[in-house]
Amino acid sequence: MLYRERTLSTQHGSVNTPILFPVRNIGTRSQDNTPEYIGEIPDLPTAMVNARAIRERESQWERLKQGADFRDELGAPDDAIIFADSGGFQFQEGPGAVDTTPAETLRTQEEIDADIYGTVDVPLSEECGPDERKRRIERSTDYALEASDQHSGDSLLFASVHGYDPEVIQNTLKYLDRQGDFDGFALGSLVPIGGQYERVTNIILAARKATDKHLHVYGLGGFLYLPLLLYLGVDSFDSSAFIRSASHRRYLVPGFRGEILRNISELEYLPCGCPVCRDRPLDDVRSDRNLLVQHNLWALTIELRRFRYAAASDRDIESYLRLRYQGNDVTLRAFKTAKQQVRGLA
Ligand SMILES: [Zn+2]
Repeated sequence: MLYRERTLSTQHGSVNTPILFPVRNIGTRSQDNTPEYIGEIPDLPTAMVNARAIRERESQWERLKQGADFRDELGAPDDAIIFADSGGFQFQEGPGAVDTTPAETLRTQEEIDADIYGTVDVPLSEECGPDERKRRIERSTDYALEASDQHSGDSLLFASVHGYDPEVIQNTLKYLDRQGDFDGFALGSLVPIGGQYERVTNIILAARKATDKHLHVYGLGGFLYLPLLLYLGVDSFDSSAFIRSASHRRYLVPGFRGEILRNISELEYLPCGCPVCRDRPLDDVRSDRNLLVQHNLWALTIELRRFRYAAASDRDIESYLRLRYQGNDVTLRAFKTAKQQVRGLA
C-alpha cells in the first residue's frame, strides 16, 4: 500500500497529509478570482499561489514590499499554510523565455511569507523534441540547486522536477537529493499529458521510488485524479479544477463524476450535506458561482476524508477505488493499470 498519512510541519502550523492546496488566484481578471474559502473548511488550511503573478501585480507587490501582510491581502487567517510556486507554467508562452532567477523568486516567496517554496522551473510539453526536453530538464535542475544554495530560514524548499521518462525522473530526483538540500519534491509538466493515465502514474511511481521525502504533484488535484494520486502515495497536490468546473456550471458529486447542473434542473435539493448545499435549493446554488466553487472544494475535501476513513477503519482502499471509478471506463482502466504498476513495485 503506497497511500500514506504524515504530518507536514511548516512555520505557520502543521497540516495532515495527504492534502490539497487549492489554487488561490488573485489575477486581474475577476473571473479567475477564488472566493474566500480558507478558514471555511477546517481540514483545508492551505492555498497555492503563483509567485510570478503576485510580483506582476504592481500595486499589491508595492504594498507587500512596504510591509503589508500577504495573508491579510488574501483574506486568509494568520495560520494559513501557503505554497508559492514560481509560476513556471507561464514561461512557456515565449520559447524558453524565463523572466526570473532563482534569487528573485526566493525573494518574492519570502515577501509573501510562504511556507513552501517551489523552485523555478521550465515545464515540458508534448511539442518539445528530445533535445529541447533534455535542455529544459537540466535547466530546471540547475535552478533548483541554485535555490538550494541560496535558501535559508524556516520555510520549506521543494525542488520542481520534470520529465516524461520514469528513468530520467528517478535520476533527476536522486541527483537533486544528493547535491541539494530539499524538504520535498514537486513533479510538474503532468497536466499536458494528463489524459495518458498510464504514463502519468508510471512517472509518479518512479518519483515515489526515488525518494521518501514529501512528494507534491503540480496541477493534477482534480476530481478524477485525486483518488489515484492518493493511491500512489502522493503527499500533496494543487488544483484549480474546482474553480474551472464551477465556471462550466459543473457540480462535483463525491463518488461520481462532475454533473452539469442543467442536466439535473428538476431536482429541488442537491445530493450533498456540505454547508453550501444542505439547506439551499438547487436553483440558489446554480445561480451563484461562488457557492458552486465552495461546494466543489467541499467535494474534494470529502474525497480526502473518505480515504482517511477507509484507512482508519482498515477498509480496503483498492475496493473503494474500484467502486469509485466504476462508472467510467477510462478511469477504471487507469486505476487497474496503476494497481498492476503498484504490485510490480512490491
Ligand atoms: Zn455541497
